[in-house]
Amino acid sequence: MKIGTKAIHAGVSPDETTGAIMTPIYQTSTYVQEGVGNHKGYEYSRTQNPTRSALQKSIAALENGEYGACFGSGLAAIDCLIKMLNPGDEVISTNDLYGGSYRIFKTIFEKYGIVFHFVNMINKQNVEEKINSKTKLIWIETPSNPMMNIIDIEAMVSIAKGNKIMVCVDNTFATPYLQNPLDLGADVVMHSVTKYLGGHSDVVMGALVTSNVKIADEMYRIQNSSGAIPAPMDCFLVLRGIKTLHVRIQRHCENAEKVAHFLKSHAKVDKVYWPGFEEHLNHDIAKKQMRGFGGMISFNLKDNQLEDALKVVSKVKVFSLAESLGGVESLIGHPVSMTHASIPKEVREESGVVDSLIRLSVGIEDAEDLLEDLEQALSNLY
Ligand SMILES: *Cc1c(COP(=O)(O)O)cnc(C)c1O
Repeated sequence: MKIGTKAIHAGVSPDETTGAIMTPIYQTSTYVQEGVGNHKGYEYSRTQNPTRSALQKSIAALENGEYGACFGSGLAAIDCLIKMLNPGDEVISTNDLYGGSYRIFKTIFEKYGIVFHFVNMINKQNVEEKINSKTKLIWIETPSNPMMNIIDIEAMVSIAKGNKIMVCVDNTFATPYLQNPLDLGADVVMHSVTKYLGGHSDVVMGALVTSNVKIADEMYRIQNSSGAIPAPMDCFLVLRGIKTLHVRIQRHCENAEKVAHFLKSHAKVDKVYWPGFEEHLNHDIAKKQMRGFGGMISFNLKDNQLEDALKVVSKVKVFSLAESLGGVESLIGHPVSMTHASIPKEVREESGVVDSLIRLSVGIEDAEDLLEDLEQALSNLY
């Protein structure tokens, strides 16, 4: 099955009792048993819920994986993955990553004795240098947030395989429509479902997908034991969102391409970070492992003034000033004061997150309106 058909059909089938074509919201905590131990596969909704099961199957199918698990947020999915590790284990993570991922690694898991190394993964050698017998996980986010760096997933997998290291890719920005890390050899895919999979800015949720049965057993054990599960209503909303994933992402990509070219030719704009540009540092890798360049763009302003960036993000009218991304509506953000405020200045500037950096989540409105909006916000600058 191709991805558009999967988006609509995978994991879901008409309800057996009524024929309802849409998966019902099983708003129940428990399930009546005919006798002790004699049940229909459902005992308690932390462990199993039919609405969640359908969604887990759908997301697993989209990622070409066998097993999916959904969580109350993207960070709860990351929390589950890191709980598979033991004190003393080491993780090599990309240095240009979602601020909340950095925060959970540093402020939650480090105190349980897990060691995190943050390296620039554009250069393979930086990863190889950190590998030792305690390395258990390589954490990749690509395209990265907010610098749109592209990490070569296959290259990381080849380093990991020889050393029996698990590879997990945060595929939130690319979505399974544009990139399938499991097909490139990764062991686990993580999603902030909140973003493109949900697609309508109305749900917070996370997911993990794997085809490795050992990892899956651990994943479901931790999902049930820690209990960070999403509610049935939210699972329903995401099942609904996923049905248009392919159509939405096509338009996100088309609009982002137009916005990226507009910004690049604008006098007030310094650099534009979008992997579709031939001169993008990792354009070749993006072309190799992705089927399109996504809806996310970052850019900074000439003179790099914080105040100028704040003016732009407050002057836009079609774009909304907000954290998050991946919904149908266009959003604008200022990483330094918003998503990346929890990352120390030295750390963020090392990866290019400078004071005037602005991040766009390009929505699926009419592109002309988006360009006009950015033009009026930028032309008012000075
Ligand atoms: C939002 C986001 C997360 C965290 O997900 P939540 O659903 O907000 O918990 C992780 N990684 C990336 C790339 C994100 O954009």
